[in-house]
Amino acid sequence: MKDGHIRNIAIIGGGSAGWMTAAALARILGRDYAAITLVESDAIGTVGVGEATIPQINIFNRMLGIDEDEFVRRTKGSFKLGIQFVDWGRKGHSYFHPFGKYGVDMEGVSFHAFWLRLHQAGLAPWIDAYSLPASAAALGKFMRPIDAGKSPLSTIAYAFHFDAGLYAAFLREYAEARGVVRREGRIINVHQAADDGFIRTVELEDGTHVAADLFIDCSGFHGLLIEGAMQAGYVDWSQYLPCNRAMAVPCTGTADITPYTRSTARQAGWQWRIPLQHRIGNGYVYCSDFISDDVARETLLSNLDGEALAEPRIIKFTTGRRRQYWVKNCVAIGLSSGFMEPLESTSIWMIQSGIARLLGNFPDQSFSPVDISRFNRVLATETEEIRDFLILHYKATERTDSEFWNYCRTMPIPDRLAEKIAVFENSGRCFRENEELFNDTSWFAVMIGQLKAPRRHDPVAELLTLEETRTRLEQIARAVANSADYMPLHSDFIRQNCAS
Ligand SMILES: Cc1cc2nc3c(=O)[nH]c(=O)nc-3n(C[C@H](O)[C@H](O)[C@H](O)COP(=O)(O)OP(=O)(O)OC[C@H]3O[C@@H](n4cnc5c(N)ncnc54)[C@H](O)[C@@H]3O)c2cc1C
Repeated sequence: MKDGHIRNIAIIGGGSAGWMTAAALARILGRDYAAITLVESDAIGTVGVGEATIPQINIFNRMLGIDEDEFVRRTKGSFKLGIQFVDWGRKGHSYFHPFGKYGVDMEGVSFHAFWLRLHQAGLAPWIDAYSLPASAAALGKFMRPIDAGKSPLSTIAYAFHFDAGLYAAFLREYAEARGVVRREGRIINVHQAADDGFIRTVELEDGTHVAADLFIDCSGFHGLLIEGAMQAGYVDWSQYLPCNRAMAVPCTGTADITPYTRSTARQAGWQWRIPLQHRIGNGYVYCSDFISDDVARETLLSNLDGEALAEPRIIKFTTGRRRQYWVKNCVAIGLSSGFMEPLESTSIWMIQSGIARLLGNFPDQSFSPVDISRFNRVLATETEEIRDFLILHYKATERTDSEFWNYCRTMPIPDRLAEKIAVFENSGRCFRENEELFNDTSWFAVMIGQLKAPRRHDPVAELLTLEETRTRLEQIARAVANSADYMPLHSDFIRQNCAS
């Protein structure tokens, strides 16, 4: 068995995944541990989308030690308090999936259990009144949390929208300043050792080779190394997440930058709207079995807030995950590891998670099979938990107005999700299982938002009398409303702190 630590790392690809990985490894490993080379091809380019994030990106930014205002300025970004879902449960109906938690848990019981009881008794407004991110988003307001004791202002959870190309450029500068060497050129061959199948070098068009001990495949959908060389296999989830194309186009924006992503359900999928400082990102994610590209294009272009700034671009994909994320000395991070579609902005989080888990299981020259198999198992579970949350959006609908929605409403779903829905329909209970990404607020927001009415409330909500519950919830709603009033407009906040 070989020993000694990894001395050369090659990152293949310079999209968000490649440069996030390069920046993180440079930061954590430092200059002396290993030489890091990143290979990318300007001629091939990047996928160029991926503009909405979830609050966990703050952990990544803090780990890099980057200045947040500079980051937002450089990526022409904006702030995100959650996602507004329009026409999903039923046409003409919308709801908000906020970051953070609803209200305050009481007596060890989830806040939403008390709310449901009161709401079913006709004594409580819609649950958004108990979420500061939801209330602030409705008013177009934003600020970062401040130290304000028990006020909801202390716990504002937020993420970002940013220009994906500028994000990769920002991280490139960061990584190169810390010693990462960039090689430009198209890889035409991957050379593996005859004895053990480990990758030894990648060969560029100009005939040069890049050798490394560890190869990180960030080459995008086709998985140049993980699939092309290592044949890791792909688990196809099209039966659950049928969308297989996206048509993307930016358009002009307005001075009023909304602090949330909007997702509007359409005839055969859904349309995103992501407001940045200099434009709005838009895209129609659809299933080509149910709609033609021409109709998708027409739908997208007739539902923009401003003037289109480019020709719409089609991106094709198959939802699913790589059967193995790590094979021998090759680890897939980013789109090369799979793609579940952008509905809840989870791909950049998956990159972050892949990097964190790679660092947590960082190999030496022996490439311990138990570490590799644990890495593969943990990431597979994490991906499946997110998959189930995404499927819920398609499944929990009353829409009968198109073949696409008829398919989604009636499709078979994984057992674990079917159980979660049944538990919710019975008593409104939602749980965060194990370490899954989405918490009980997220599950509750989408379940109740998509019109899944529980038959009764959680019996433990009767720990408090109806009157006491009402008094406490009124106090919470008042605190939320006062806090939302206090916050500045999102556009003003950007102008004052991080205008590009
Ligand atoms: C429609 C759509 C919308 C999305 N929206 C979101 C979102 O809102 N939020 C979110 O978190 N994520 C989103 N994502 C996902 C996000 O875009 C990706 O996770 C992210 O951009 C990472 O992509 P990547 O770096 O893995 O791949 P890419 O951007 O495709 O980069 C691949 C890199 O590999 C290089 N490369 C490939 N082959 C070769 C070769 N032969 N030789 C040399 N170099 C090569 C390319 O040049 C490029 O640099 C979205 C994805 C899609 C498709």
